[in-house]
Parts: sequence; structure tokens; C-alpha cells
Amino acid sequence: MNQIKQLADLRSLTRKDLEAWLASLGLPAYRGRQLFRWLWRPGIDSFGQMTEFSKEARCLLEKHGVINTLKIVRRLVSEDGTKKLVFELDDKHYIESVIIPEKKHVTLCLSSQVGCAMGCAFCRTALMGFVRQLSPSEIVLQALHCIEEAGLDTNVRNIVFMGMGEPLANYDNFIKALRILMDNLGLDFSSRRVTVSTCGIIPQMLKLGEEIDVSLAISLHAPDDETRGKLMPINKKYPVDDLLAACRQYRLAPRRRITFEYILIKGVNDSLSQAKELVRKLHGIKAKVNLIPFNEGPELEFRCPDWQHILLFQKVLLDAGYTTIIRKSKGRDILAACGQLAGKIKGHF
Ligand code: SAH
Repeated sequence: MNQIKQLADLRSLTRKDLEAWLASLGLPAYRGRQLFRWLWRPGIDSFGQMTEFSKEARCLLEKHGVINTLKIVRRLVSEDGTKKLVFELDDKHYIESVIIPEKKHVTLCLSSQVGCAMGCAFCRTALMGFVRQLSPSEIVLQALHCIEEAGLDTNVRNIVFMGMGEPLANYDNFIKALRILMDNLGLDFSSRRVTVSTCGIIPQMLKLGEEIDVSLAISLHAPDDETRGKLMPINKKYPVDDLLAACRQYRLAPRRRITFEYILIKGVNDSLSQAKELVRKLHGIKAKVNLIPFNEGPELEFRCPDWQHILLFQKVLLDAGYTTIIRKSKGRDILAACGQLAGKIKGHF
């Protein structure tokens, strides 16, 4: 029988999975720990570099496993210092990550899928449609390469999954990626510093809360079904009240809050009566609100409200006692801001 043996993508394995995999090759569990640590060191792309392993062990690893990497094919730097990396995957699809400098640290915005199936009306990624899931290694490698790119002495502290894709629609791969990102022998990100942003797929959201401690952000964008339904097709399956009921039920670590993201789109969801309704709807949820002035994109019809109006909308929420920040998106000039990542539409990156 002519069977091609699949090599294991070692960077897609959590530490526990790697230990089990090594045991299946007859190597002891502590080797799994070592291998895991090597795999997530910056600059490693071959077994030959893993000096703790004997030549025989390295040959064995090479015969059965691969060390995946991503190829950076473009770097775009915004005038505000934000940098967008475009990665080419093995099958010639493209994904994007964004390196966002803050005052004292750096935040990474990573992708979870190639394209997206959610079809939100305001988002450029939606125009690509869904192409495929990212593997755990493809998700975590974005962080590793961004860290190398930012410079190893830079404090890369936060990760937000607000790039391309809906993370909870790639649940199994995504949760493995989170485990690797937050493993102290992996990339060692603190759970408070990793934010999963979702359009609100309720069952997976609740499962996530049971399985792992991360920060949760919900893309709400409207307090009523009529408006939200027009903007986000997922609302037909998981309407606003159900989503907010799930948020009330979500297992939150002490002193944590759920972030609600609310894009402000002129004449669509930015009326002050909608702000008041939002206040009513969030009642009883430990919440904070991020208002995101709509980022205009080449193919999108919507417009951003003017600044005075954004401040009035914010005031309604502040007066009701909610921490409400206006998140000024960075990197707009290189299409690196929220909702502007689209791999490749009509020749844009
Ligand atoms: N699928 C996930 C994560 C990707 S979108 C989610 O829906 O949350 C990350 C954030 O960018 C979301 O809050 C999304 O609604 C927002 N976003 C999308 N398009 C935008 C645009 N054109 N302007 C501003 N924010 C946008």
C-alpha cells in the first residue's frame, strides 16, 4: 500500500499533546517539556538547533514531525507607528496581523481564520467570505513572528483576537492556540492580557468561559434586534437578549468585566436613544464599553459620525456609570485598523 505518512505539525500541539506524542515515539514525558520550550523560542526553525536532544532523538523527531513557520511577505508601517504584517501560508493564502505600539507596551492583533463566514455589513474581512480555518500553529506563529519583528526587548504584552475571522467559529484550533500562548513555557501571555473578541456565538462562548480564563469582548454594535440584525447576520441565530443573558451567565474571573464593542456608524446605530437603550440592556452585567468610530473602508458604504456626536453618545454611557472609552483605531492609512483586514480584495493588501 502506498501511504504517505503525515508529519505531525508540532507547533499545533499543546504541551500536554506534545508529551503524549513523544510518548508514542517512545520518548519520556520530560522530553515533551523540553521540546515544547524549544519550539516556542524565537529564531528556532529546525531540530538541529535543539542542542539538548541527542542526534538520534533529533532524527526521530525529524522523521515524524515538522516545525511550521509563516512567511512574511509584506510589512506596512503606518504614520502612527502601527505595523501590519502580511503572512503567506503554505497553500498561498494570506493572513494579516497588526503590531500596535501603546505608551509602554505593544499590543498584537491576530487573525483566527482566513476570511470570515459571519458576513457583518461593516467589515472588510467579510467581503472575502470564508476561506479556511487556521491551525493552532498558524495562530500562535503570528504572535511569535510579531514578537521577533517588534524586537525581543520590546514589551509585547497584550493580544487581541480582533484580526481576520471569528475565533469561536474555529473553536478547537483556537483553544489549543490559547493554551500555547498562555503556557509559561510557551509564549507566556497572562490570561488578563489575551482578549477574545466574538460576534456572539453563544454556545462556544459559554464553553470558552468554562474551559479557559481569558478576557472576553463582545461585538454588540446595536442594542436592538432590528438594527443588529441588519448589521450582523449572526443576530438572527443569537438575538441580543439571548446574547446578553449568556453574558450574565458567563463565568468571569473576580474583578473582570466583559468588554462590549460598539462601532459607531452615522445614522445607523448612533442615536442617543440607542445609547440609552444600550444602558438599559447592559443592566446587571459587569461591563465596560469600547466605542469604535467606524473605520471607513474602500468598499464600504457606511460613514463615521462626527466627533461631537461621538462624545454625546459616550456621555450617556458615562453618566450611567459605565467605563466607556472611545477606541481610536490605529493604522487606518495602511488598512490595519479594526475591520479593515482583508488579505486581498481587488489587489489591496
Ligand atoms: N469576529 C470577531 C473578531 C474580529 S472583528 C468579532 O466579531 O468580534 C474585531 C472588531 O473590529 C469587532 O468588534 C468588529 O466588529 C470591529 N470592526 C469590524 N469592522 C469595523 C470597521 N469597519 N470599523 C471599526 N470596527 C470594525
